[in-house]
Amino acid sequence: MIIANWKMNGSKKLVKDWIDSITKDIEINPGKDCIFCPPICYIDYSRRIINEHDNNLKLGSQKIDTLIHAPFTGGLSAEMLVDLGCQYVIIGHSEQRMNLHETNLDLSSKLKNTKEMDLKPIFCIGESLEQKNSNITKEVLNEQLEVIEREYIQEVIIAYEPVWAIGTGQNAEISYINEIHAFIKQTLQNKIKSSIQISVVYGGSVNLDNCKEIYCSDQVDGLLIGGASLNSETFTKIYNML
Ligand code: PEP
Repeated sequence: MIIANWKMNGSKKLVKDWIDSITKDIEINPGKDCIFCPPICYIDYSRRIINEHDNNLKLGSQKIDTLIHAPFTGGLSAEMLVDLGCQYVIIGHSEQRMNLHETNLDLSSKLKNTKEMDLKPIFCIGESLEQKNSNITKEVLNEQLEVIEREYIQEVIIAYEPVWAIGTGQNAEISYINEIHAFIKQTLQNKIKSSIQISVVYGGSVNLDNCKEIYCSDQVDGLLIGGASLNSETFTKIYNML
């Protein structure tokens, strides 16, 4: 699975050009989902363009709220996202954890809100540089993973995104990614005492030069791409190369 996270970028024109170009240049393989996460204000517009092309591009939201069925001005529910044609939602991205001061309780509510709907969470976890340098990466990830309820583990896609690698041009080394992905899978499998398959995608400065090595690892089930997903040509080359 290859996920394009546009963050707070784009315009209607860029969205249309990007989807047109992806449709023309990518034959989306059902075994390698291609998920587009534009800013929420362009979700409905994106859905309409995707439907016109009748391609297999899937839509994901970068946002969902904690409350459900409550008076909440400006709120965004799982039901609304599904109504807009979203199949995925990113939860716990480090930029939101930091800027919106999201707590584990907030993230747990967001995960619960997706549960009743046919909406797949992409749950982001990752350590800061300071935490990595203090050798507490696994403790930090363990705590972040505790938010996921046992009966929901199989439904969640984990995105391992070391905070120090996001948007910095410094991706994690493949040996480090392998070690951490194996740790994440083992931790969740231990929690439910089962060896079921857990999907863990990697994100953090993925680009044309490093995507193949990372994607080809047995421990990596996909990529979450920020900056390098904005340019349709680059994104197409990455998708088609894998
Ligand atoms: C991201 O936005 O989650 C991300 C990984 O960004 P970038 O690829 O630009 O590091």
